Parts: sequence; C-alpha cells; structure tokens
Amino acid sequence: MNLFRRFARLALPLTAAAAAIGYVAAGSSAPNVGTYPAAPSASVAPASPTLRAPVEPPSLATPENRWASVGGNPTANIDKAWLEAEGPYKGPLEGRRLVTLTFDDGPSLVYTPQVRKSLAKYGIEATFFVIGKYLEGESYSAQKARKVVQDLAHDGHLIGNHTLDHSQLTAVSFAEATRQIDHSAELIQQTVGAEPLFFRPPFGDLDGALSAHLAARHNRLVLWNVEGKDWESDDADAVFAELTRRLDFARGGIVLLHDWKYSSVVVTQRLLAWLHANRWDPKHPKRAGYEVVGLEEFLNEVEKMPQPYANRAEMNAARVQHFQSLHPAAPQAASTEPVARAPQRPKLQKVSTKR
Ligand SMILES: [Zn+2]
Repeated sequence: MNLFRRFARLALPLTAAAAAIGYVAAGSSAPNVGTYPAAPSASVAPASPTLRAPVEPPSLATPENRWASVGGNPTANIDKAWLEAEGPYKGPLEGRRLVTLTFDDGPSLVYTPQVRKSLAKYGIEATFFVIGKYLEGESYSAQKARKVVQDLAHDGHLIGNHTLDHSQLTAVSFAEATRQIDHSAELIQQTVGAEPLFFRPPFGDLDGALSAHLAARHNRLVLWNVEGKDWESDDADAVFAELTRRLDFARGGIVLLHDWKYSSVVVTQRLLAWLHANRWDPKHPKRAGYEVVGLEEFLNEVEKMPQPYANRAEMNAARVQHFQSLHPAAPQAASTEPVARAPQRPKLQKVSTKR
C-alpha cells in the first residue's frame, strides 16, 4: 500500500503525456464499483430525461438512488474531478455558462447563516464542504454548528465532507487520512441523517490509495476551477474582480468560496447579484450568460457532455493555444490561465475541546 501511494504521488506531477497514462492507471486501479443497480454510463447510453426528474426525499436515503440522479457512478479520480469542475464541454457558440457554488471550511456560527440567507434570496442551492470536528461533542459551539448545518440541509443545500480537521491528507499516514474521511462522514451523518456523498480534500490533495478509499465509500470527489483567494484576502473588491474574471475566462464552473469570514459573505452577495444580472437567457442561447445550478445538476450536465481532454493540463494548453490563435500579438496569454492548485491556508475556527 505504501509503495502504491508513493508511486501515485510521483505519477501526478509528470508531463501531460505521462499524466494521461496516469489518468488511465488511476481509473483502472479504483475498486470495482459495479454494485450500483442504476448507473448508466454516459458513453453507452444517453442519460434518460427521467434521471433529471426531482428525486423524492425518501429515495435520497440510498447512495444508489442519489447517484442515479447524477447520471452515473461516483468517481474519485483526481484528474477527472479537475476536468469536471470546468463544467460540460461547450462549443464556441454555446452561450450558456453553467455555475455551481461551493463553500469550504465551515460551518461558521456567524457567517454561514449569512451566506444561507443570501442564497435563499436568489433561490440558489449550493454545496457546503464542512469540517467534521466542528460538529463533534456537546459544547455550545458544536450544538450550534450542527443546527447551522441542519438549516443548510433543510434549505436543500448539499453537505459535503472536507475531513475532520482540514489535514493535508497526503502528509499524514494512510490510517490517519482514512480516519479524517470516515469520522468526519460519521459526524455529518449524525447531524443531517444522511452520509455525505461528496468529498473535497483540503488543498485539493489526494493520492491513488485515498481515491480508491473514497470510491469504495461511494464518495464522489469534487474540486473547483474558479476561486478568488478569499481565504487569504479581506479585500472584497479584489476577490470579486478575480472571481468574475476567472468565471469569464473559464465560461463557468465550480466556484470555491469560504463561509468563515465576513469579506466572503460580502463577496458572495455581490457575486450572486452579478450572476443574476448576467444570467443566461434561453431565448438567446448563443448570448453569453450564467446559469447557477446545484452540484448534482451541474455534474449531470458534465456527464452528458464531458470535456474531451485527458486532464486539466491538456485542456489548459488547448485553451492557451486557442487564445493565442485569436490574439497573436497578445502578451502573457498564460496569465489568464486559472491557477490549478492554489495553496490554501485556511484559518480554522477555535473548536472547543470540552465534550
Ligand atoms: Zn478547505
């Protein structure tokens, strides 16, 4: 197992060609998840329209039904997850830019309810990747944190797993990494009554053995492609400008924000207003505009029209090439390229150790 982990770690940062091989290898090393009863592959048969029908609450209890609603098996392949974050493949004339919002490192007793209120104003369902530790124990803050998360779930937001205490999973032992995933999932399950089906590793870091562990857990890996470093900067103007610039460059995708600070609440409010003002109009489908959807619908659309690249590096190279062919004299085309893995240094809230 250790040897495999070491190999998987080495394999990740190689060239595009090697990474393409790694993509295949990682996919084939995942455990067989063929036990799902209803998991039509997008490449075999187009997703039936019935798969997109709203899922009745009782059927949400089983992972099988949930994954049927997303149109396929869960995947924990990291190359695939980076590509999925870019959204469905769009031809040059496609104006519809799909967006889904994700909030990490909460819940915050103060700021998460403010984000929730803003989302409710626009009727938007988001995904919150929470820190399991905040939900543990009988302290006042833990009880309040559970209530905050229950309120989110009640509003229809998805609760995803973001580990127990935001450990970098590739920097700890395999046993500790799986404890970070499993115990946090348990705490979320105890809080909202359902196991989290979506997982986001802190710093976007995951190796092959942990990918296999997630796949065996029926967890789907969710990463992001649009962020404005709100975890680092308190300058709402700068973060907002960066987010909209990246959204425009990537033509939509999975937005990463953090619901534990006031400036991010401000950014969220401004971003929601901006996305609404620049919304896609189905009457003019070629005119660029944004459509904000929940994560499951977003992934469903991706399943139907996946990006035709082996990995993100290949996709970015194609984008830069396309940009340069349109603007041969433009300097620094690469500067518009999204940052694949910005280092995140989240400031965790104080967790009471009293039980
Ligand atoms: Zn995080």
